[in-house]
Amino acid sequence: MDVTTRALMLKATDYGENDKFILLYSLEYGKISVHAKGIRKSGAKLKFAADQFCFGQYELAQNGDRFTLKTCQQIESFYALRQDITVYYAACVIAECLVNYTEEEQQESQLFIQTLKALQALTDGCEPLLVVLRYLLGFTKTEGFGLQFGNCVVCDRPTDKVYLDLQRGGLVCKECRTAESTALGAQVVGACTLVENMPYSRLKNINLTLEILKDALTMMYRYIAHSFSPLKSLIELLKLS
Ligand SMILES: [Zn+2]
Repeated sequence: MDVTTRALMLKATDYGENDKFILLYSLEYGKISVHAKGIRKSGAKLKFAADQFCFGQYELAQNGDRFTLKTCQQIESFYALRQDITVYYAACVIAECLVNYTEEEQQESQLFIQTLKALQALTDGCEPLLVVLRYLLGFTKTEGFGLQFGNCVVCDRPTDKVYLDLQRGGLVCKECRTAESTALGAQVVGACTLVENMPYSRLKNINLTLEILKDALTMMYRYIAHSFSPLKSLIELLKLS
């Protein structure tokens, strides 16, 4: 059976002499691994379909749970993401979230749309750290483990002073904090609250210092790494900035 799906190329792995396995994030099927035969041969017409962040209409042959690439029509190359090292690592954080933390063949159209909007904001010259912060806040919420910035995760009371408590999986108030909780600066909490529901198109109007963005991203890194595998490209991005 042949299927057509709009998809973003996340990661390619060499296979055999001339082939690759390409990991796509698709609108219709979520994350899928696709066998791209002969794609490494010189002059292979579909080489571009295995480029990282290629967004296109992929035509696949489906046999059970196996997909093989038939053809691809590029919609957007997102080439600009590979021209600047900071922008590139920001895009890599987004790809890594999808590679590491989503299930195969689980359709999530909202996440798909958010991903494209984030990549578009990066190519439009938005501050990379700000785009990544917006994406991580949205991603964790969509995936059901978003942080609540206004209420304590233990007692549910509204709180001004906020502490990150990894053991309890979220943000706690002064009364509920333990020796392991770490205080979050008011500016970090303010930045996250401001950005978490903001449309990507409006991020350009936001002016946050690099220091606050780095503190907020470090907090997100620790939070995600505690429950899942660490986001390696986020560490690289923070080193670069
Ligand atoms: Zn509390």
